[in-house]
Amino acid sequence: MSFKSLSEAVKNILATPKSPDNVCPVCRSERTTDNRTVVRDKIANLAIDFPRWFEFFYRGDEALAFDYLTRGKHGWACDACLSSGAALLADYHKQDFCDWPPYLAYTDETLNCRTCQSEFIFTKEEQLYWYETLCFLVQSRAVNCERCRNDIRAEKKTYTEAQKQAQLLKASLDLTDIEQVSTLISLYDQTGSHKKVKYYTGILMKLKKNSQNRHNDNE
Ligand SMILES: [Zn+2]
Ligand SMILES: [Zn+2]
Repeated sequence: MSFKSLSEAVKNILATPKSPDNVCPVCRSERTTDNRTVVRDKIANLAIDFPRWFEFFYRGDEALAFDYLTRGKHGWACDACLSSGAALLADYHKQDFCDWPPYLAYTDETLNCRTCQSEFIFTKEEQLYWYETLCFLVQSRAVNCERCRNDIRAEKKTYTEAQKQAQLLKASLDLTDIEQVSTLISLYDQTGSHKKVKYYTGILMKLKKNSQNRHNDNE
């Protein structure tokens, strides 16, 4: 966002008294100069701690920074919500921010899961963990609900495990052993290697046919 459009955006928000961006995201109390002293102090410190970033991002305009950093979702909550624990105070020293402002506070957010489309809460505790322990970029967001995230993780684990086993089996594969070839096919099926599934299925069919012929000959 250019300096001009950023300052326009802030102006528009300030010109709309009941804009959703002008209320505390937790208690919906209207933003005033004296119900956000905690975040205001944080911004003042940010300008001191990261002067070059501050100068670059806000062109040194502290008033603009104050409005931008405390507006809407991007990290503010009123003093009452911060002291009651309804919002969590953020520590920007631990966050990875560069072309996006850091969080000053975390509040529960309702998002829609990209996989199952259901609503889920991206909790303030999770956000703190994401941005200050795992050090994800501040503009990264949760896109899946917890259940879908767990499913995706489990799927990945199955995939990696199948890949490992397939490699092991292939290293000592007996191409005349029906059981081994069948196992390899099912492992490749789990890793989505369609070409390999097709290739080894061809071999398996031949093996089965041969074994059937031998069986018939013996009779
Ligand atoms: Zn509040
Ligand atoms: Zn989901």
